[in-house]
Amino acid sequence: MHIAVLAGDGIGQEIMVEAVRVLEALDLPGLRLDHADVGGVAYRKHGHPLPPETLDLAKTADAVLFGAVGDPELDGLRRELRVESAILGLRKELQLFANLRPANAFAGLENLSGLKPEIASAIDLLIVRELTGDVYFGEKGQRQTEDGLRQGYDVMAYDESEIARIAHVAFKAAQGRKGKLCSVDKANVLQTSVLWRAVVEEVAAEYPDVELSHMYVDNAAMQLVRNPGQFDVIVTGNLFGDILSDQASMCVGSIGLLASASLGEGTKGQYEPIHGSAPDIAGQGIANPMAMILSAAMMLRHSFADETNAQRIEKAVSTVLADGVLGHDLGGSASTSAIGDAVVAAVQK
Ligand code: ATP
Ligand code: MG
Repeated sequence: MHIAVLAGDGIGQEIMVEAVRVLEALDLPGLRLDHADVGGVAYRKHGHPLPPETLDLAKTADAVLFGAVGDPELDGLRRELRVESAILGLRKELQLFANLRPANAFAGLENLSGLKPEIASAIDLLIVRELTGDVYFGEKGQRQTEDGLRQGYDVMAYDESEIARIAHVAFKAAQGRKGKLCSVDKANVLQTSVLWRAVVEEVAAEYPDVELSHMYVDNAAMQLVRNPGQFDVIVTGNLFGDILSDQASMCVGSIGLLASASLGEGTKGQYEPIHGSAPDIAGQGIANPMAMILSAAMMLRHSFADETNAQRIEKAVSTVLADGVLGHDLGGSASTSAIGDAVVAAVQK
């Protein structure tokens, strides 16, 4: 069980300490945690946000536990040295094409979401977002039209193999949950989506136990706030997934609670909170470490098939929240380490 621990910048350092303590409290056999620098920290020490030794560690380890990168003092760096490029670099090198973001309601936090409590409490969904295609990676540029107007363009493109592989991830995820998959696209307007829908239908033949539906993205955005309880697994492309997953996360209450996994073909994955390095609160000991701790649970589930310990962590987090140990982001006053202490105590019960 070899884990590359890349804490990164800002609160990444603080929340990683707590996630590591929780992992160590589980007494996992053969647990080996190797730390390396990434992001602004790495740039300052080694001149690059993703130094070769960090990349080597990430490649040889079974899984990558990732904090956050982002350093406002280094914002002026040229594109390939920008600290955020470390995330894209890792995804590319590790061939991680599927981003999983669960969003589920926690007992006791119903009033913190912008939604009505009875609607918020029904949230238990997983967004599976394609990560390596779509407008982000299609041909792009700026040019002049024949009329001499400036024009920007980004090509949206997916080939069938890219759609099929993300569909398989989503169907398998649905099999392990409530058996419902909603594929989100814009097939009434976009050819990419017409193909997306067709390929998802083809893949569905291999998963007769999963109930498949399709929804246009504009409707999905509305349904996520109107009745999020209707969703189990949502699968969608890179652009729609980017937007919908941020939207879904806020239905739960705080950005400090949401974890994510980025996966490829094998069991290797990168696990990180959905939030950033939060420079505004870094160094104060008030960051909520729950998203980081829950990312460690996702790691145990997906990279090590250790559902038992994944659930042990998730139950501990739910218990601690229900007990009212709340960070500043949730209107409480518990410090980062106090929350870590509470989760460690709860997993050991
Ligand atoms: P990035 O560009 O890296 O995503 P960002 O500018 O979008 O970063 P975040 O770093 O995600 O922003 O922070 C957004 C806001 O949420 C900030 O006010 C930050 O303090 C708060 N925040 C983020 N994560 C946490 C956390 N774990 N605990 C408490 N507050 C948090
Ligand atoms: Mg952000």
